[in-house]
Amino acid sequence: MNDLYCPYCDENLGNHVDDCYEPNIEYEHECPRCSKIFIFEIEYYPSFTSRKADCLNGKKHKYEKILGYPKEFFKNKRRCSMCGKEIIINDAKGKKEEKVDGNEHGK
Ligand SMILES: [Zn+2]
Ligand SMILES: [Zn+2]
Repeated sequence: MNDLYCPYCDENLGNHVDDCYEPNIEYEHECPRCSKIFIFEIEYYPSFTSRKADCLNGKKHKYEKILGYPKEFFKNKRRCSMCGKEIIINDAKGKKEEKVDGNEHGK
């Protein structure tokens, strides 16, 4: 039988989670021992996988590009590889404002 372990302090948390969790969904859980927050998901009941999520413990998110189609849709999207949070970035910086010089005939 597999238990849930805190990825930070290795505390066995198998008794701290209810058995109402659904598989393949990522849950945030705060370790009662070291008070760090981590992500776990259930692969097959009652086994767990857990991973560190530093960004939920005061560190920065680790945003990475998302590949998908259509490209335009994902162009400005970034997903944190640790907690899975997605954001839309503003690329106003890389946007060139091109002015079209219209010839005015009204002279
Ligand atoms: Zn812990
Ligand atoms: Zn994150």
